[in-house]
Amino acid sequence: MSKANNPKLKSWVEVPNGSDFPIQNLPFGIFKTQYLTAVAGVAIGNHVLDLVYLYEKGFFDGLGLPPGIFNQEYLNPFIGLGRKKCGEVRERISELLRIDNDELQDNVAARELALIPMEEVEMRMPIQIPNYTDFYSSEEHATNVGTMFRDPKNALLPNWKHLPVGYHGRTSSIVISGTPIHRPKGQIKPLDSEVPVFSPCKKLDFELEMAFITCANTALGSSVSTKEAEDNIFGMVLFNDWSARDMQTWEYVPLGPFLAKNFASTISPWIVTMDALEPFRVDGPKQNPKVLPYLTYEGKKNYDIGLEVIIGEGKNETVVSKSNFKYMYWNMCQQLAHHTVNGCNLQVGDMYGSGTISGPEKGSFGSMLEITWNGKDPIKLKDGSERKFIEDGDMVTLRGAAERDGVRIGFGDCSGKILPAI
Ligand code: CA
Repeated sequence: MSKANNPKLKSWVEVPNGSDFPIQNLPFGIFKTQYLTAVAGVAIGNHVLDLVYLYEKGFFDGLGLPPGIFNQEYLNPFIGLGRKKCGEVRERISELLRIDNDELQDNVAARELALIPMEEVEMRMPIQIPNYTDFYSSEEHATNVGTMFRDPKNALLPNWKHLPVGYHGRTSSIVISGTPIHRPKGQIKPLDSEVPVFSPCKKLDFELEMAFITCANTALGSSVSTKEAEDNIFGMVLFNDWSARDMQTWEYVPLGPFLAKNFASTISPWIVTMDALEPFRVDGPKQNPKVLPYLTYEGKKNYDIGLEVIIGEGKNETVVSKSNFKYMYWNMCQQLAHHTVNGCNLQVGDMYGSGTISGPEKGSFGSMLEITWNGKDPIKLKDGSERKFIEDGDMVTLRGAAERDGVRIGFGDCSGKILPAI
């Protein structure tokens, strides 16, 4: 177990109770301030640690990092150094922030300049994403959708338990938390009509997902086994894969999702490393029928990460779903092994969505489509209003954290407000 994950560690930087960012987390992101251009940082409590400053002052000497590695608009060059090197950097940062280490703690000038209050920074997209793939790996979600739109007796299609179903999405519209989203417009076919109409989406939805990010370029024609997969995964973010359900129903046959999905997806700003999530491994659901040999795996490959969806802001926040990443039927190693088994290559910064993560009960469903059963069963919000789907002006926030032994490894808010169609 990495030293940086010791639940007993304490930092000299104040970490408020319930913070997503204790010393055991140390997630990476890209931030800018009024005075600084976008550079790499790490979250600790309510502060951001400026990695460019620490590098320039020699705090990373001896790690063999290339000059300017943190002075970048995106984290791609850093994560491209690989899991091992990034892990060494996280260990060094952990050392510098420990209460029994005086290197930075006792250097008042350096402390002042290296630690920036979060309210003074603007978070930017952490990664320039070359490719984005979205899976469909929650059995409960796939079963709910199959029950609603096809046949409750055969809710899962015949391929579902034999391979992690996925599709290639679009990267240009993946945005950082806080970016407002205009309601999409497009073709919708009303039930009582033979022909479609052009209209703003009337069934706008969120999808509660997580996404992982790869940190290696692999050769075209090569494959990554389930055993090798983890070396290629840097970390994870929360992922809201906004969806226009009415547009989707009309357009998706036979090639799958298109305009119903590619207008926006929102990610949380900090990439939580797989190293920080290491203590939260759990067994996944038992897979039956047996999978083909290239999809078999050993060990605990799921992670216990509590997830929530909130509609509304401030005192009007209503939690509409509580789910968990551990429910995933197909794990990330199987997803990568399947993705590359045909020779498809990985790139540094690729993003892979889990698919909507629904749990077994109604309160744990990961989309409004399931929560209100396609609008038949509206929910009541704290302000007294009702929702079948997402309305203009709604703020939707995903939150997530892995918690054990008094340590909370959180992701920060993944929020987006819906504005009227333009
Ligand atoms: Ca999705």
